Formats: sequence, structure tokens, C-alpha cells
Amino acid sequence: MRCDHCAHDVPDGVFCTRCGAHQGTTGEFGDAKRREHRYAAHPGEHVAQPSVITTLFPHLGHQKIHEFRWAFIVGLAGVLVLYISGLIAAAILVSAFLVPVLYLIYLYEAQVYRDEPAMVLGFTIGGGVVAGIVLTILVRLIYNPISADPNPLAGTSVNIGALLLLGLLVPLVQEVVKALPAIFLPNRANFPETVDGLVFGIAAGLGFALAETVINFSTSLTSLGHVAPGNWIYNLTTIAVLQPLMQGSATGMIVATVWRQRLGMLGGREIGGVAMAVLAHIAFSGGTQILSDTSISPLFILFWQAAVVGALLMYVRYLLHHALLEEAAHMGFAETVCPSCHMHIVASGFCPNCGMALTAAPSQLKRNRRERKDPASRASGGA
Ligand SMILES: [Zn+2]
Ligand SMILES: [Zn+2]
Repeated sequence: MRCDHCAHDVPDGVFCTRCGAHQGTTGEFGDAKRREHRYAAHPGEHVAQPSVITTLFPHLGHQKIHEFRWAFIVGLAGVLVLYISGLIAAAILVSAFLVPVLYLIYLYEAQVYRDEPAMVLGFTIGGGVVAGIVLTILVRLIYNPISADPNPLAGTSVNIGALLLLGLLVPLVQEVVKALPAIFLPNRANFPETVDGLVFGIAAGLGFALAETVINFSTSLTSLGHVAPGNWIYNLTTIAVLQPLMQGSATGMIVATVWRQRLGMLGGREIGGVAMAVLAHIAFSGGTQILSDTSISPLFILFWQAAVVGALLMYVRYLLHHALLEEAAHMGFAETVCPSCHMHIVASGFCPNCGMALTAAPSQLKRNRRERKDPASRASGGA
């Protein structure tokens, strides 16, 4: 079969295994080459589907997605139980560690670091933690919310100095510093694909969020006699879910852009990704700062943060989808099992059956590819 989009001879299939284009002729799903109804990392989803796990954990297959989703839900339930029991300090700690620990398990599951776990983990999660400690302590030396805000009526006005610092300057500096450890990963030549850069960036961002949260709430952790438990549920939602998702996806996008630049594929989409990451971070922190200075319901702050995080996740998917489609280097035809649809396939860059980009397959699977010289001798999907 000859693909209409890349003109290569490829095995029969719904998707071209070389360029990933949808081979349908009816055009019912829009642009066959961009195939936005079939997200390249998880073909069961649209590119614009608001899903956290398939966006930030792109290497996981169906079964693992469910396991991680349940682990996340169980973790959140644990936080809720601790909160209801009045164990606020424990709830804060579990919240802070929940997503970073899940990510650590993910990196292990998918073997994203291949043969160099210590180096990769050190420069991503570890580097993020160190950057988070240094930067958060520096910010707290400059601005201490407890001593700087003795006015009990502060709830009625917006503090401009704090807003510029915490809502504008700190997000900008954080976005630069968070990305540095992953960018300076010494053996990055072993991880050329943008999906690797994205995952490393997310890991660094999560490490940073962990350190930032633990330091920022260290006073609450040690002096809980003075904390009214009533409002903590909102803070806990931000700590456990929204803050790490924002920090992780923003840095993931910036590091992914650096990876794209190294591949010589820097375009408007990537520049837009960096702009999106920075603006979303400013909107998240600045917006939270403004809203908490007014007497608005804390629930509304959560809605605001969730909206920003949702937009950020959409852009991550859009960026990764097109990066996967563009970077499908011809890996040679090989017998393998598709991690998404579990068919035995003879494929190059994409599963001919479901269209998954095999560069986003877990490392064990990539290692087990068995090369085949003659792809035409066996039709694809013939399990
Ligand atoms: Zn093609
Ligand atoms: Zn498949």
C-alpha cells in the first residue's frame, strides 16, 4: 500500500506506519495527516480531551492508565481522611508528595530513563527539588507573608508589591530555574525525542513543586495548634492537584521546546508553548494572589486555578501530538506489540491499527522490537 500523505510503501493499515496519517478516504475526521481525533500518545482520545494522566504520563498503556488513575484517587481519598481526622500536617505532607511519587513510579514503570536511572532522576526530580529549595528560601527571605501583612483588614485591598513579586517576578524566575536541571542533563543525547524532554521537564517541575510546598507550609507543619482546620480543604486541593500540575506541565512544555530546538524543529507552536507556560504560571499565581486579597469565596480561586491548569494541559497535548507526528523517524520495520491496542504488529513509527506513536512506547517494548526486513510478507495487525 502506498500512503497518500508521505508516498512511502507501507503495510496495509488504518494508519500509515511511517507518517501516522489516517488512511481513511472519507474525510469524516477532518485532516487525515493532523488526525486530531486520534491523539498520537493515546489514540483512543481526541487531542483536546481534558485528561490529566494521559497528558502527563504519555508512556502508559491502557491498563497502567487505570492503575495510576486509581492510585491518584486513593491518594486524594487518603488526604481527605487525614483532613477529616484533623491531621492537617499529615494531609499537607501526603498532598505534597502524592503527584511527585506517582511520577517517580511512572518513570520506573515506563523505564523512561532507560539504563541511566540515577543520572536522569538526579537531574530531573532531584534537580527540581534543589532548585525549589533554593528559590523558595530566597523568596521567603525577601517576602514573608506573616510578618509583612500585620493589618487584619488586609482582606479588603490588593497589595501591589506582593502582587508584582509573587504574581509576576517569582513565576518568571521559577520558569527559568525549574527548566535548568533537565536542560543540563549530561547524557541527553541518549534521549533525543521530544516526549523524553517533556517527561523530564514535568519531573523537574514536580520536584520543584514538592520542595516549594514543603517549605511554604513548614510553619503550618510545625505550629498546627494555630491553624483553623476549616479552610484547609481548599489549600489541600491546590497543594495535591493544581499546584503540581501547573508546575509540572509548564516546565514540561519549556523543556520540550528546548528538545525541539535541538532537533532543529523550533516553530511557532513551540514558541507559543513557552509563552503559554509563562503566561499560565503568571495567571495562576497572580490570579490567586489577587483573588485571595479580595473576600471572594476560596472555591472560586480553585475554579480559576483549574481553568488555568486545564488550558495548560490542552497545550501540552497539542504540542506533544504534533511533535510525535513530526518526529516519527523511520525506525525500521519491526515486529512488536502495540502498547495501546495490544495487537501484534509489524510497524515502523506508528501502530498501523490504532495510530499510536511508538516513540511514546515504554522502553522495554522498544528494546523488544524484532527487526523485519520484509514488511510486506505479513499484513499488519495480523495477531
Ligand atoms: Zn504516510
Ligand atoms: Zn495499536
